[in-house]
Amino acid sequence: MIDTHSHIYSTEFDDDRDFVVQRAVEAGVTHIILPNENLDSVPRLLDTAARYPDRVSLALGLHPEEVRDDWDDALRRMEPLLDQHPWVAVGEVGIDLYWDKTFRHQQMQALERQLGWCVDRDLPFILHCREALDEVLDVLRQLAGQMPRGVFHCFTGTADDVDRIRQVGDFCFGIGGVLTFKKSRLPEVLPIIGIDRILLETDAPYMAPVPHRGKRNESAYVADIARCMAQALNLTLDQVDRLTTATARQLFALP
Ligand SMILES: [Zn+2]
Repeated sequence: MIDTHSHIYSTEFDDDRDFVVQRAVEAGVTHIILPNENLDSVPRLLDTAARYPDRVSLALGLHPEEVRDDWDDALRRMEPLLDQHPWVAVGEVGIDLYWDKTFRHQQMQALERQLGWCVDRDLPFILHCREALDEVLDVLRQLAGQMPRGVFHCFTGTADDVDRIRQVGDFCFGIGGVLTFKKSRLPEVLPIIGIDRILLETDAPYMAPVPHRGKRNESAYVADIARCMAQALNLTLDQVDRLTTATARQLFALP
């Protein structure tokens, strides 16, 4: 399995990162993709990649909740880093209007700029979209004709949302711990997405799946999400593993 979205480079894992990676490997995780947050987190990503070079790949981007008035300066300083490491994606990028709409316009501009990086460098995006599907689709539509590939990470939307997204592009959907929650409507939405466009992810340390809900999440728990997914799609665990791994390898051009 590939955990396509994990923040195991963050301070929450400073005390036991080696064990976290070891437990992931024991749970069947062959690879982990680390999306960036801001300029300060970049050295942490690079350190983590240096320590587990065969296990992790990195994405570079400015998280929407990190977008403020200085977004333009932050992206100018971040862009040269694109040439300094073999990033597999631009991320995580997107729009988040859940807590705060103050920087709505700036978030849209920052997303547009970073999607330009995807187009210029033929990289996929890892997209964070919360309470902002209209805005995200507006920005994506401007790229019609040169639409990058990418994933809507931590997707928790409806069948209607899937339909609206597909009218804009043939994207992947990252499915995490929410699938395992008791009131989740994702089990009914997964068959509409189809296994060919689904990626497994944890979003560790957030969003731990049942039976770890409320605790620190880690990449090994992707196995709990995969089990739940197999049930929802009437597939075997092995099929979910094989098919989501193939999709992730293709999207991120992993070896
Ligand atoms: Zn994330």
